[in-house]
Amino acid sequence: MRALRGRLGDLAVGLPPGGRDLAAHAPAPAKEEGERMPEVVRPRDGDPVTLGPCPPWCTLGRHFADGEPVDAGDGYHHAGTEAEVPTAYPFGGLTDAEPTIVRAALKSWAHPLGAGPGPARVELNLGTPAARTDLCVEAAPAGARAIARALLDLAGTAERAGEPAGAATGQEPGGAQEGQ
Ligand SMILES: [Zn+2]
Repeated sequence: MRALRGRLGDLAVGLPPGGRDLAAHAPAPAKEEGERMPEVVRPRDGDPVTLGPCPPWCTLGRHFADGEPVDAGDGYHHAGTEAEVPTAYPFGGLTDAEPTIVRAALKSWAHPLGAGPGPARVELNLGTPAARTDLCVEAAPAGARAIARALLDLAGTAERAGEPAGAATGQEPGGAQEGQ
């Protein structure tokens, strides 16, 4: 990707905006990702099933491991690339625990096995550097935006609260609160 972006950058300098070469280069990686071998699973209690198509953001090569027991009534998840955000907070709030990693990724539940992907959900997972855990929440896009907005608002408030400490040297903390 980095190499491609560099080439596109060079082309952009030499070509007029909207040059044909730019358009010709862009779709290539997506096309390759779309050509996947259909995945066939063999339920213990039924005929082989070809899994439904992946959503375009699914990065799983296979959805079931070899020899993984599958039942005809099962479903499965499509999953996209994870964003990992390390924090300094010890996992579970326990002393001596590893730091908590917040992972965010797109998920979609497909059920039954041959069905297409269900609606895309944003999964937030709390884990450690080594492991994901069951501590997670799946949110619809609107819910994910609400979580993101709440976090941004809180972060902004926290940062603004930190700033005046130096600027408001002449004011009594108590006096400032009473005035508002
Ligand atoms: Zn998939």
